[in-house]
Amino acid sequence: MTRKVIPILPQEGYIPIGQAFEGDEALLSLYASDKKIYPRSVSGLFARWRWGMVFLTQLVFYGMPWLEWGQRQAVLFDLGTRRFYIFGLVLYPQDFIYLAGILVISALSLFLFTAVAGRLWCGYACPQTVYTEIFLWIEKKVEGERSARMRRDAQPMSANKVLRKSTKHLLWLAVALWTGFTFVGYFTPIQELGGEFLQMSVNSWEVFWTFFYGFATYGNAGFMREQICKHMCPYAQFQSVMFDNDTLIVTYDKERGEPRGNRSRKDELSTLSLGACVDCTLCVQVCPTGIDIRNGLQHDCIGCGACVDVCDTVMDKMGYERGLIRYTTENAMSQHWSQAKTLRHVLRPRVLIYAAVLGTMVLAMVVSLSLRTPFKVDVVRDRGVMTRIVAGGTIENVYRLQVMNATESTHRYKITATGLPGLVLSSENVVTVEATEARWLPVRVQLPFDAATPGSHVMQFEIDALDSPGHLIEKSVFLVPR
Ligand code: SF4
Ligand code: SF4
Repeated sequence: MTRKVIPILPQEGYIPIGQAFEGDEALLSLYASDKKIYPRSVSGLFARWRWGMVFLTQLVFYGMPWLEWGQRQAVLFDLGTRRFYIFGLVLYPQDFIYLAGILVISALSLFLFTAVAGRLWCGYACPQTVYTEIFLWIEKKVEGERSARMRRDAQPMSANKVLRKSTKHLLWLAVALWTGFTFVGYFTPIQELGGEFLQMSVNSWEVFWTFFYGFATYGNAGFMREQICKHMCPYAQFQSVMFDNDTLIVTYDKERGEPRGNRSRKDELSTLSLGACVDCTLCVQVCPTGIDIRNGLQHDCIGCGACVDVCDTVMDKMGYERGLIRYTTENAMSQHWSQAKTLRHVLRPRVLIYAAVLGTMVLAMVVSLSLRTPFKVDVVRDRGVMTRIVAGGTIENVYRLQVMNATESTHRYKITATGLPGLVLSSENVVTVEATEARWLPVRVQLPFDAATPGSHVMQFEIDALDSPGHLIEKSVFLVPR
């Protein structure tokens, strides 16, 4: 029997599991699981910014569904009735353009922030970063600092280990399920949802999404962590094309730091043949993606600044100047620019163009929302009655109009038909629509015989709000029989 060895080329990151012996058939795997990362906690300027963003984003996320606006939830995306409530704004599916506008503004903001300072979003505001930070905080409180966690994981199972691990997982699950519940609370009134959960009368879709979102949070922030940033996030794959040599990125100052090496605090730096890096590896220990920034800019760096904070504390202890690892640009590093000159170059044409386009979009959105007619109308032709001749030889077409009141109070609307001489409404022409409601109205439009040639003619419905400003024109067609 022929035996063969499957050759494995040594390649960074791929370590075969099992062993191949010459002359033996062997099953080798190219899969290697990543080593578990135990990020050390860190304090400093950028850690404070990150925690500030954690508080801000979570205050908004968890708090918003509990805010009231009049008799209803202030922010509610009611998919059942197809209405989006955002404080005083009531949006209908016809307002889809505003959703598209928000997406364009978000994309432009991401381009702008990335061009200015790399992965700012990833390091400070991305939900993956925020929930990982919260989960790590719980882990630290229950299991202790990095070294204690590593020691415990290496130890065999014990009562203490089981107790600490299960406490951590219970707390993680509580946060995750509350997150799932809050998420569903944006689509179903949250107070009713809470009551339904207490009475065990919640519907299956709401249960599904609460648990789905909750377990996704639990898995992503508790276990997957940096794997999401490295392998699953689409933004991580293309963000580097938005970088250039004037983008602020977290950088290790090789010129200053090398050659690295241990030394005593008492040693005078100028008397040593060493750079400023004391090779303490703290910058690697605090890194949530487990990379060594001293090896240069890497795809996996999320720009969180944790290594900047920890290295600054080391520099302080050694009595060296801060900033061995810092936010700077490639140009500033290679040409030894001052901070002021670096910042001047950050405001380059590309950034100014992004900022101008973004500002224009935001302005257009605000103006458009403020000038928006506070009601909508849809016109549908009655398929059962295309056209007919009624008493007196008058030609009649029948339509269905849906009048949608996008305000918080009841309004009356007057409907008129225009576009052809002698066109009149023979049905009720004033309709009352309750706050945030939509009402269907059958409408009959008549035209004197011989007023138009046979065929299809463009006409309009004009709708005026009687007790508030607002005027809409909706086009349709009027059919004259042959
Ligand atoms: S934290 Fe600073 S001093 Fe310590 S190894 Fe990293 S770069 Fe060197
Ligand atoms: S290298 Fe520094 S900035 Fe980049 S992810 Fe690691 S700790 Fe954060």
